[in-house]
Amino acid sequence: LVVVEHVDKHYGELHVLNDINTVVNRGEVVVVIGPSGSGKSTLCRAINRLETIDSGSISIDGQKLPEEGAALAKLRADVGMVFQSFNLFAHKTVLENITLAPTRVRRMSRKAAESEAMELLDRVGVANQAKKLPAQLSGGQQQRVAIARSLAMNPKLILMDEPTSALDPEMINEVLDVMVGLAKDGMTMIVVTHEMGFARKAADRVLFMADGRIVEEATPAEFFDHPTSDRAKDFLSKIL
Ligand code: ATP
Ligand code: MG
Repeated sequence: LVVVEHVDKHYGELHVLNDINTVVNRGEVVVVIGPSGSGKSTLCRAINRLETIDSGSISIDGQKLPEEGAALAKLRADVGMVFQSFNLFAHKTVLENITLAPTRVRRMSRKAAESEAMELLDRVGVANQAKKLPAQLSGGQQQRVAIARSLAMNPKLILMDEPTSALDPEMINEVLDVMVGLAKDGMTMIVVTHEMGFARKAADRVLFMADGRIVEEATPAEFFDHPTSDRAKDFLSKIL
């Protein structure tokens, strides 16, 4: 579904993505981990073309990422993105947050969008919060709304960049449970996270990045039990 070939990107002198190659198949869950500044967010954002790349190519569903215009809008509609900071519209209710894109971008009727939104809110366990504003919800609830919002566009792929790192510890599991559910339902996901429990439970593969490179790519069992590079061993010794 996603093919990343020889991708390079620099910020001035910094080689933030250094010859990145990987393939994510339909239904796969790939967890990206690595030290701060290793390029994880940049890679995620490049896949959605929130960042440009200097060279190499990224394609989704056989199509090279469009540069701009309607084709780029179409790509963004097909690729869900969930951020650390939820990014909900503060002045819209939870329900409106979910129905906005389906009605505007997918031209769905309000009624159909609302009934689908309620199903999604139910799926992530916050249907009873539909009429509230985001600020009236806990962080964990807001992030579950953000996940429901990305699902409302029926995406081919969901990118998540540290979806639980802004949450209080007691709320992390409720969001991880939703993510594990999505993975089990066959959603294709690329998830930047330091939640090793999620990686072990849900990931088909772990990509370990350091200094802009993919240093290791392995199943979670291989990676956590037998990391091969010194960088990965060092990283794991600090976080496990
Ligand atoms: P973290 O775990 O802290 O989120 P990361 O692996 O997601 O780190 P990136 O956000 O991809 O790392 O950043 C990689 C490097 O690129 C960092 O050194 C960062 O300072 C640098 N960087 C990111 N965005 C920009 C930018 N817009 N301009 C210049 N440098 C940038
Ligand atoms: Mg990051």
